[in-house]
Amino acid sequence: MDIFQAMAEHGHEQLIFNYDKVSGLRMIVALHDTTLGPGLGGMRNWRYASEDEAIADALRLSRGMTYKNAFAGIDFGGSKCVIYNDPEEKTDLLLRAAGRFVEMLAGRVYTGEDVGLTPNDVEVMAHTTRYLVGRPHKSGDPSKAAALGTYSSIRACLQHTYGTPEPKGRHVAIQGAGNVGSDLARRLVQDGAQVTICDLYPERAEAVAAETGARVVPSEEIFDVECDVFSPCALGLILNQETLPRLRTKAVCGSANNQLKTPEIAEALRTAGILYAPDFIVNGGGIVNIADEFEDGGYQRERAFLRVAQIGERLLAVFRRAEAEGSTTSAAAERIAEDRIKAVAEQQRHFVPQRP
Ligand code: NAD
Repeated sequence: MDIFQAMAEHGHEQLIFNYDKVSGLRMIVALHDTTLGPGLGGMRNWRYASEDEAIADALRLSRGMTYKNAFAGIDFGGSKCVIYNDPEEKTDLLLRAAGRFVEMLAGRVYTGEDVGLTPNDVEVMAHTTRYLVGRPHKSGDPSKAAALGTYSSIRACLQHTYGTPEPKGRHVAIQGAGNVGSDLARRLVQDGAQVTICDLYPERAEAVAAETGARVVPSEEIFDVECDVFSPCALGLILNQETLPRLRTKAVCGSANNQLKTPEIAEALRTAGILYAPDFIVNGGGIVNIADEFEDGGYQRERAFLRVAQIGERLLAVFRRAEAEGSTTSAAAERIAEDRIKAVAEQQRHFVPQRP
């Protein structure tokens, strides 16, 4: 890989390679854009097939965080830490080394739990760095906030499609009965919506059904369910050329990351008359919740959740802009995020540093 070429392509600022000779840690820290503030993004530990794959993931994910944070209205840039070691071979020594490297960046990067890391791993890292977010005594598990943001986004989709945000009498099909999907189902059923749910582990969907009265379908059938909103809350890349023709819905709005297999799918959804709520907005509740740790007096759940519940309003602005510009909702959302970064960069240009 031509690393500088790859960085130039999407405007990355910094790529840092860290190696610890005692534990064998190989960690890549990618900083995409820090116009709005220090980098904020999780730490991922994955069994990558090659070094290039690990670098590409760090670059892709850090860029995604820039957009997610900018759109969410928080004062953080985009970064990502990627550990390029087998997650099975993770040791306390390795995690402490990772923490030490984050500490060396002296607040340029804040990180926390992501794929391949447990809350306990983050606590081990806390021995060597202060720059961690989402710890249990602060904002903790973000899934309730992510579910609230998804719920608020579904209301926005209903508002845009039917002229009223009320879920009562509407039908939502949820893919994935995990932390987010099950909480979302509870909220929707409480509002009088009909919910259909599935999970690769059917007992998880059955548990939600027993509690809420939701209908369960086998996971391979969820794309064919006729519904008002299809809500992907499982894995990424599920919107593709095979699944798109099967959708019998007016809107797609769920928490799963990277739902579009390719960017062209956004255009295909638009052409098919299906409203797509960009995933990085819908699942922004997690990051908005975390950002509250930096507010006056430290994390306050009530204040954080009030902000998370406003995600739907931001989404409505995206729908309006996409319509006005005749673009996809993904493109409109990216432009809104870019506008915010540009405005702040422009403002900063006018501040002349004082001589000491
Ligand atoms: P989770 O692991 O608790 O739940 C995901 C569920 O999806 C699991 O029960 C799994 O069995 C099921 N699943 C996987 N593949 C499936 C398939 N093909 N068909 C049906 N079910 C399938 O995860 P979560 O915390 O509920 O998060 C859900 C999604 O939202 C993930 O993509 C996650 O990256 C994203 N997200 C979560 C948060 C958060 O705070 N939890 C924040 C932002 C984004």
